[in-house]
Amino acid sequence: MEVRPSLPPALTHLNELAGNLHYSRSRAVRDLFDRVDAVTWAQVEGNPVRFLQLMPQASLDRAADDSAFLAELAAAWRGFEEHCADQRVGALDSVIGADATVAYFCAEFGFHESLPIYSGGLGILAGDHCKAASDLGVPLVGVGLLYRQGYFQQCIDAEGRQHPRFEDLEFSHLPIRPATRGSAPVEVRVEFPGRMVTAQVWEVRVGRVVVYLLDTDVADNTAADREITHRLYGGDRRRRLEQEMLLGVGGVRALRALGIMPSAWHINEGHAAFSILERVRELTRDGLAFDPARHAVAAATLFTTHTPVPAGHDTFAPDLIEAHVQPFLADLGVDAPTVLSLGTDPAHDGKHFNMTALALRGSRQHNGVSRVHGTVAAQMSQAFWPEVPAEENPLTHVTNGVHVETFLNRDLTRLFDATRRDWRNHLHEAGIGELVERIDPARLWSMHLSAKAHLVDDLKARLQRQSERFGEAHVRLKQRCRVLEQPVDDFLMVGFARRFATYKRAGLLFRQRERLARLIETSPRPLVFVFAGKAHPADEPGQALLKEVHELSADPRFAGHVLLIEGYDMGLARRLVAGCDVWLNTPEFPMEASGTSGQKAGINGVLNLSVADGWWAEGHDHREGVANGWSISPTPGAADRDVREADDLLTLLETEVIPLFDRREAPADNVPEGLPLEWIAWQRHAIATILPRFNASRMVRDYAERHYRRAIDAGRLLAQDGYRAAKGRAEFEQLLAAHWAGVEGKVISAPGSIMRQGDSLSIEIETTSPGLPPQSLRCEAVLGDGAFRRIVVGELIESTDEPMRGRHRIQLPEDLAGEVDYWLRIVPTHETLLHPYELGRMVWL
Ligand SMILES: *Cc1c(COP(=O)(O)O)cnc(C)c1O
Repeated sequence: MEVRPSLPPALTHLNELAGNLHYSRSRAVRDLFDRVDAVTWAQVEGNPVRFLQLMPQASLDRAADDSAFLAELAAAWRGFEEHCADQRVGALDSVIGADATVAYFCAEFGFHESLPIYSGGLGILAGDHCKAASDLGVPLVGVGLLYRQGYFQQCIDAEGRQHPRFEDLEFSHLPIRPATRGSAPVEVRVEFPGRMVTAQVWEVRVGRVVVYLLDTDVADNTAADREITHRLYGGDRRRRLEQEMLLGVGGVRALRALGIMPSAWHINEGHAAFSILERVRELTRDGLAFDPARHAVAAATLFTTHTPVPAGHDTFAPDLIEAHVQPFLADLGVDAPTVLSLGTDPAHDGKHFNMTALALRGSRQHNGVSRVHGTVAAQMSQAFWPEVPAEENPLTHVTNGVHVETFLNRDLTRLFDATRRDWRNHLHEAGIGELVERIDPARLWSMHLSAKAHLVDDLKARLQRQSERFGEAHVRLKQRCRVLEQPVDDFLMVGFARRFATYKRAGLLFRQRERLARLIETSPRPLVFVFAGKAHPADEPGQALLKEVHELSADPRFAGHVLLIEGYDMGLARRLVAGCDVWLNTPEFPMEASGTSGQKAGINGVLNLSVADGWWAEGHDHREGVANGWSISPTPGAADRDVREADDLLTLLETEVIPLFDRREAPADNVPEGLPLEWIAWQRHAIATILPRFNASRMVRDYAERHYRRAIDAGRLLAQDGYRAAKGRAEFEQLLAAHWAGVEGKVISAPGSIMRQGDSLSIEIETTSPGLPPQSLRCEAVLGDGAFRRIVVGELIESTDEPMRGRHRIQLPEDLAGEVDYWLRIVPTHETLLHPYELGRMVWL
């Protein structure tokens, strides 16, 4: 039995504030709950829904009588209402009209620790994307799965072994509600081999964005099918396929059942790529042929990949796929091998069905998540556009960003609020950097120390709980806390928290153990390294890394200096990225697609010490006398890369990080220790250079301006007049397949080898293309190399159809000077292209 309080009428807004994940980004809202009853608030670990269920009635009644509290509630409510008011921020109105909707699919969403349906960076990125879309007024709906047991809860025992705990979440304790149409709850059904699977649809509100989550744990389903959505990334390959079928196929059906007709579709990582098949099926069922349907769907679709290595791609055995797509074949009007061919990776193991391949073929726009990763992903998928050099293929990048308000520390949030009330809407502008440049050094330092002190208190409490569970003697706990007990401005705290996947190399710091021990012993300031993170339950090497860190944390040389904190989640992440002095990241280049935790640290003035990979390769900024952190040089390919990079890391710590932290001004009246003025200048530089560029508003704006707008337009173009352009594209691709090999070109006039300024520089090419109209060819000149490379597009000036022959003129620019190399090529072109080389073909002359 649970007796719940009744909410006094004066507090009804609390109920709505608890039911919208707006609280995950608004401290003002979270503080309200803390004020009503701090004890209950601490007990529910940040979950407002549970808080309102467990609150003592007396505290509620007291709050309802407290006029100061009611004023705060009214202010927070006003803030929420203003946020949700239907208006676009900035110029986005002209980018995406009110009649458009963008569907955003992802296997995980991380909004807040109270809704634990994420495992790491991918999910938190998806959560931040929704929050920023809400900020900007981008009309976006999310689609995902509701995992009854979440990812898992982590418990580390006295030997350092990780024990995953799977506990059912009680849905009535979560900020979710059944999605309804009219008053009827929405359910979808998906055909699986030999049976139907039903999923209930739930909704999560994040400001003004709604995310729909599917849940198969309903009475209609068999016991096995009820478990499909129990665990994020749990189970075997079959279970994973079932989840992905549900997410892709069921997700599209959920939107339709709700009456939502998206005009652009964003697939965030390959897990949701089956949505492509379902959308094709919708069109073929209505009579369109398979190929035009494929093109119509792809035109409106953007695919974001996060995987920098082929081995990381999600693949399935063909017979498993075949069994699962069988029920769709009649509608699709094609055979199983045709569907299977959509998932072949031309560069690798041709036998497995690859979700990235399906996503690439089913989308017309594709991107990686940082500059480095975009390049790597373009190379990796080069075989999809076989004749196009990787640097010119359509796989581009949009660098990730983080939702600033969610991760910014309390004092900086207050300071921004006080200086510029609407700062949240201007994150991408240079002005925000200026705001930071004006912060007084002593003030910035005291804000940092207050975040650090808050973190230290939390770490001590967590260490105590862990230690008690280990049954350790009290003296061991004291030893573990011996650095944390010192004044917070004295010791240097380095944080490393993320998934314990092996490529992230949590153990790199310990590759030269003796040297690290010496560094700790001789450092002028005490050092403490804080580690946290979960290893996937099936990842043995990842768990071995956890054990290694655990053992070091008990080793007398490292005890107190190396801490392992269990149960990494967004709550702990928020505190760590605000309170550490240095944020460490040591991925194997180029495996870190982005690495957003470093951005969270940077916006708080925490200095990054990181391998120059992912976002940091473009985020690291060093100028005369000031920088925003340090880069460890990657040495990919070297047999002893770990040794070299560990050496670089320790050298940086020893010769740069620690000395910079150690340097203090002479003591003053109000700062007895003396301020580390140079360190503070670096902190300020970190905020000023990272916050305006690596925030989620900039990211969503980039997606909207570069990709959503074009997906909406292309989707409409291909669908017009009974899918005329989609049919035209399908026919054109067939022609290309049959006749491209016969395309030839010859230069019929070109500039001489020495030309004078002012001479007309033009090149004429004659193309012959049996079976392909000359209008479908374009000639190009590529001038120069590297940074000086320019592409000049030619014009068709004469053509005959019998035989198919065209005369093209390329007019070279007048500003050429000196020695210029050029290359000539022919590419196919069509009115439906979103990228000039997406057809993958190119003939060089
Ligand atoms: C930001 C975040 C991540 C992502 O961290 P990386 O730097 O990409 O490894 C993972 N987990 C949590 C809880 C986070 O907040």
